[in-house]
Amino acid sequence: MAFDSARTSEASDRRPEQAIGHANGGALVPGLKNGATPPPTYLTHRLRLNPNSDHRPDNYEGLDLEFSPLIFSSLERYLPPNLLHQARDVKLNYMSEILLRYYPENERIRLQKHREYRQKIISNYQRLHLELYNNMHPTNFFVPSFLKAINENTEQAFRNIMSEPSPGIFTFEMLQPRFCEMLLAEVENFEKWVHETKFRIMRPSTMNKYGAALDDFGMRKMLEKLMEDFIRPISKVFFPEVGGSILDSHHGFVLEYGIDRDVDMGFHVDDSEVSLNVCVGKQFSGGELFFRGVRCDEHVNTETKPEEVFDYSHVPGSAVLHRGRHRHGARATTAGNRMNLLLWCRSSVFRESRKYQKDFSSWCAECKREKKERQRQSVAAIDMKEITGHAEEGGANCSLS
Ligand SMILES: [Zn+2]
Repeated sequence: MAFDSARTSEASDRRPEQAIGHANGGALVPGLKNGATPPPTYLTHRLRLNPNSDHRPDNYEGLDLEFSPLIFSSLERYLPPNLLHQARDVKLNYMSEILLRYYPENERIRLQKHREYRQKIISNYQRLHLELYNNMHPTNFFVPSFLKAINENTEQAFRNIMSEPSPGIFTFEMLQPRFCEMLLAEVENFEKWVHETKFRIMRPSTMNKYGAALDDFGMRKMLEKLMEDFIRPISKVFFPEVGGSILDSHHGFVLEYGIDRDVDMGFHVDDSEVSLNVCVGKQFSGGELFFRGVRCDEHVNTETKPEEVFDYSHVPGSAVLHRGRHRHGARATTAGNRMNLLLWCRSSVFRESRKYQKDFSSWCAECKREKKERQRQSVAAIDMKEITGHAEEGGANCSLS
């Protein structure tokens, strides 16, 4: 069977990582095509003005939702009385349709198309390892040292299992070999299915021809848990200035490198606040990550200082955690095959607040240098004023005497 799936949806999820300079520049995602379905109006869907405060709303946790579960349980009290005791799915659909009205039109169409696209994959693709999709068993996924640090949840516990070979780049052992094997096999199985059915899938980013967006094929809940319970506690300690403690959405995917896959990855920044990059396997040479300092939008193309140069060689099972704005790229994988699991963690609150700021000296190295320079100049100006001030005083005194 063949699918002609929706490739039209503008994948803002995988809005690329911003490519830097001209090195392997990532092409921009094409805009929405003309002739897209007009937005539905749902005139029949209304809420009450006053909430039914006696009503006990359903629990919407653990569902694959576009909005926070709390929004649904809070909104439920405003449903028309005849809906209050309907099945949860009925209420959910009703409220989703209302909420979507408030989305910008393009975004709403994108969401809807993407949901259909996901649904097509989920209902047709035969899963190999159900364990990857259902309830996560941390002891099967993670090495004991990592779990111990997460359970202790202190900076010292995290530091005990981590190296920080260059400021803001943390490396540590994370995944169990068995988990890596399962994920490798699942992705191979998925690629085989894509090939056989000629399903046109959206690759995880515009800079890749291979790889798979794990969220699209059903691992969204598992990856959400990975972010919330494992990455956010660490980011809270090491990346608070970029919203590390309030990460609230993610884009999870695998990238496949090798002679018959993607070879390398150009110099870029990620569309994330915090990025987790874990090598899953298998055997390979090359493929080193190269890092070149953290930069805001305005400074993304400024030169690298010698102390910012850092290269990292992947080890299967081991993770690298860094700010999304830490400029980096991947050298060519020269032999064998390499697969990496990436989790781009984002904070909507941080993104909103960033719109109103100009000075990012708490994380952009160039903003920090500029700020220091401004401070140095203003101190120098004050010193100069004092010197000339005293000289004038001295001069006046002279003339009086
Ligand atoms: Zn800056």
